[in-house]
Amino acid sequence: MRIVKDLHTHTYYSHGKGSPRENVLRALELGLSGIAVTEHAGGNIWFGVRGRKLERLNEEMAALRREFEGRIEVYNGLECNVTGFGRSDVPKDRENYGVILLGYHKGVAPVNGFNLHILSESFGGKSTPRRNTESIMAAAEKGRVDAISHPGLYLKVDIPYMAECCRQLGVLMEINGARVTMTREELIAARDKGAKFIIGSDAHTPDRIGDCAKAIEAAREAGVLESVVNLEL
Ligand SMILES: [Zn+2]
Ligand SMILES: [Zn+2]
Repeated sequence: MRIVKDLHTHTYYSHGKGSPRENVLRALELGLSGIAVTEHAGGNIWFGVRGRKLERLNEEMAALRREFEGRIEVYNGLECNVTGFGRSDVPKDRENYGVILLGYHKGVAPVNGFNLHILSESFGGKSTPRRNTESIMAAAEKGRVDAISHPGLYLKVDIPYMAECCRQLGVLMEINGARVTMTREELIAARDKGAKFIIGSDAHTPDRIGDCAKAIEAAREAGVLESVVNLEL
């Protein structure tokens, strides 16, 4: 069993190793029908891709889309960050992106109360899973995001509540191929709330494109394979 599209990958534009072209070539070699480059968005102070660099990346992705037309679907994407309560760095021209992921990450400047809370919780401060979920889902709705990346990584969320919001908004929950962040019980609870999942490799090197064995195994083990949207069953 394998995924048909890998919609979560990184390159040397942020802190990955390969080029966008190498990611596409690897996906083609694997026989995937689609590949997205979803670089870290500008709100990440360490390796967010922004300004002229982001323009160059988008130009490169557009050229790759033309070059590989008819052979594989190439999507330009971003993995965005929560930058305040209900806020994110999803770009204003969101419609120009094929795939938008949103997740909690380290490296977002603590310039407001909610981001200070994120920092404090990540250092062992009081955990507020429900509020953390409300924040990311409000941001997801506003930014019209496609999927929540690695739910529960870096910051605790209320998975059943997130699943309910995701179902309502048509947002997918990612089972991350590099780090499975939801337990068996959480996967089952999310499925029971009606959420759909997407599996992404989160590859930071071309050789990890499509490498989702851990995520597929977790989905199989929890019995939720039929709720994953990008699997060849
Ligand atoms: Zn991430
Ligand atoms: Zn990622």
